Amino acid sequence: MTKVRDSNSSGRPHEADVIVAGGGLHGICSAFNLAMRGAKVIVLEADYVARHSSGVNAGGVRTLARPVPEIPLALLSREIWHALPDLIGDTAGFTPTGHMRIAESDEDLAVLKDRVAQLESMGYTHERLIDRESVFELEPAISRHITGAIWVERDGYALPFRTATMFRLAAQNLGAVFLEGTSVLHIEQRGTRWSAQTSRGTFNAEKLLVTAGAWSGELASQVGEPVPVRAEGLMLMVTHRVAPFIRTTLIGTGRPLSFKQFDNGTVVIGGKLIGLADLASRHGEVDFMRLVKSAKTVIELFPHLTHLGVNRSWAGVEAFTKDDLPVISESRKASNLYYSFGYCGSGFQLAPACGQLVAELMLDGSPSLSLDAFAINRFNAV
Ligand SMILES: Cc1cc2nc3c(=O)[nH]c(=O)nc-3n(C[C@H](O)[C@H](O)[C@H](O)COP(=O)(O)OP(=O)(O)OC[C@H]3O[C@@H](n4cnc5c(N)ncnc54)[C@H](O)[C@@H]3O)c2cc1C
Repeated sequence: MTKVRDSNSSGRPHEADVIVAGGGLHGICSAFNLAMRGAKVIVLEADYVARHSSGVNAGGVRTLARPVPEIPLALLSREIWHALPDLIGDTAGFTPTGHMRIAESDEDLAVLKDRVAQLESMGYTHERLIDRESVFELEPAISRHITGAIWVERDGYALPFRTATMFRLAAQNLGAVFLEGTSVLHIEQRGTRWSAQTSRGTFNAEKLLVTAGAWSGELASQVGEPVPVRAEGLMLMVTHRVAPFIRTTLIGTGRPLSFKQFDNGTVVIGGKLIGLADLASRHGEVDFMRLVKSAKTVIELFPHLTHLGVNRSWAGVEAFTKDDLPVISESRKASNLYYSFGYCGSGFQLAPACGQLVAELMLDGSPSLSLDAFAINRFNAV
């Protein structure tokens, strides 16, 4: 592997083994794993590290209710979350509260029973069906119309910006270089090396990884590899502080909901609530009418919150694909080009495992878990 070297008067390194385009959590975790394997890595970030989804998400560390192809990755990731102090010297605020997917009707309960039966037939036992009495034992304050739930004890939540910062520091300690305010404008393979032209000069490396979130489609199309990725503005709201009343993180079945209370008493309410996203201005916008609907859901579940005020709300720009699965793949058009993006509102939990698997894909040619379901060319067949 070559050494990162300074090649211009600014002192910034412009040559590496791997250039990572995009400094969200997936770029950071990939850089960390690549650096741990001895690669010289430069991460180019258009704004600042974790400015977008990776820094503003709900922090849900959830294996519960994953699309089936993602389950092996989510289970691997969960083990890494539990072992973070050994890996990066910090917990990243990970708190194993458990996650519960609640049924609010007999129809919801039938959906949950089918889900658990399907998973069990595939050998997965991490999602466990519990009856309504068990729900009330775990969450005594919840409304009595609940009919049952799926319970996953080892899930939890973490603090997004702290997670990104601690993985970034760990990567930097291994030699990875992060350049912020450095937008990749054009990518091109010149001979055996990739060049990334940016707002702050040209950077070159043997391998290029695109982790540019909702902006990745533009870079992929530059190498003739269009991919149906779109941006959505995912919303969250945070309430004033209230006395502790809930321990686990809740998600809905028949209606969108993601709900947790932090130790400081604030309640975070989300659940893939779609607002507005503008890629060009790199900005997400809240749709207040949608938020009102979610607030009503919360009040139906916890009537004592009726008069609780909302402190703030926001929308982060997130990448979605046509089949709700990410693209984690080598390019099918060019050598030494790789992608990891399109995490469809659930990529925070997956990042530690995906960073490891992407590094294996890029350095060994074959990852320790199959990434076939996430190949970039799968859309061609649809
Ligand atoms: C409100 C909200 C709540 C969420 N809640 C959860 C949750 O509870 N649990 C969960 O698992 N997931 C959650 N997610 C999803 C999760 O945050 C994302 O899937 C994940 O952070 C995506 O990470 P990323 O690195 O792929 O993308 P991003 O975080 O978007 O990072 C991509 C980076 O690339 C940079 N970039 C773009 N173009 C260029 C370019 N040309 N040159 C250089 N840099 C570029 C961007 O500036 C950005 O920093 C949530 C998302 C949102 C918005």
